[in-house]
Amino acid sequence: MTVLLSRSGISKVQQHAPYLTKEDFLEAIPGPGSLLEYNDGTRTIAYGYSGKGHRYCACITDQLINEHFLLKSIERAFNYRLSQFGKLPEAYRLIHNEADGLPGITIEVFQKYAVLTYFNQGIITYEAAIVKALRTITDFEGIYAKYRTPEPTQIHTQLIWGTAAPAEIFIQESIGKYSVRLTDGLMTGLFLDQRANREWLYQHSSNKNVCNTFSYTGSLSVACGLGNATSTKSIDLAKTYTEWCQDNLALNDLTGPRHEAICSDTFAHFAYCARKNIQYDLIILDPPTFSKNKKGTFSVPENYSRLAKEAYTLLTKKGILMCCTNYSQWSQAQFKQVLQKALPPSAKIFKECGADRDFPKHPHWSESEHLKCVFIEKLGG
Ligand code: SAH
Repeated sequence: MTVLLSRSGISKVQQHAPYLTKEDFLEAIPGPGSLLEYNDGTRTIAYGYSGKGHRYCACITDQLINEHFLLKSIERAFNYRLSQFGKLPEAYRLIHNEADGLPGITIEVFQKYAVLTYFNQGIITYEAAIVKALRTITDFEGIYAKYRTPEPTQIHTQLIWGTAAPAEIFIQESIGKYSVRLTDGLMTGLFLDQRANREWLYQHSSNKNVCNTFSYTGSLSVACGLGNATSTKSIDLAKTYTEWCQDNLALNDLTGPRHEAICSDTFAHFAYCARKNIQYDLIILDPPTFSKNKKGTFSVPENYSRLAKEAYTLLTKKGILMCCTNYSQWSQAQFKQVLQKALPPSAKIFKECGADRDFPKHPHWSESEHLKCVFIEKLGG
């Protein structure tokens, strides 16, 4: 179906943006999943489909979605990962949304299982063709879908093809083994974008006392522990995750008092350390963009500076602060600026990076570079 774009819509197409909002149209767009030909008043200038995401109402694709297009896109993404890794990891991201030409969906692979995450209702229309394409490129035992669409839904995860995975599967990475639970809410227990940072931590944690805040299931603590950290403390507000973190530590033989998972608010833990004069050689900050607890709320734009400042005061001389964020409104450069402003001149940035290779970047959409990491060393006294 043809739909007329407004000036802003035409300009977004010219800038190769993958998403359009209501203001980008001169007329109402049809219901979710409708195939659209975007018209500038005289001719079709782009293709896509309708589907309301958290900050858009339609997507732009290279051509109208059909079985062939989906297969080619998934094959291209698969071959790209193969070329990047040589041998594919047991768990990797196969489709990274718009960066792989398929705005509205991510696909992750965990051994013989694929996990699709839908970000708008429209893409669900093409589920059967996506499943078919996946089964063409490799053998799966089961395929799951997770729903992160703006419309609230009771279902988080659903098996959409094949047989169900065991409640817990174990993913072996080059560094560490991790418990993954495919049907546990919207997440799986293992953030694949942090894989390269797990490798870096493994190589740089020897003889260090590590504090991993917002630790979730503790994969970064496991990497430090295996890298011979003197001790690791994993801090998370959720008991479910500190228990899961303990499971992951035990899975890697990191048991005993040297490795602790503590159920606490990060700021409360920092206050405790300040009172007791506890210092760390390496502190990891990887907070969610927004979180709420009994003591108040945390939001990256409002509170990251304070978080970094407090962590920095707890570092030993030559200590390292690893700062990460997924906040979509900051670029890597802006994040770096925030940190430089918050920290004293003795804070030396020595490494910056993003997600691992299976999370490519869209050339014209900076938000596809979702993970931003800055590594800082505390120089001087
Ligand atoms: N770094 C982790 C992922 C972090 S996800 C990894 O790579 O695996 C964010 C985590 O922060 C969640 O587990 C959530 O429970 C936790 N969290 C949210 N607010 C918190 C707070 N104020 N203090 C400590 N943990 C918090």
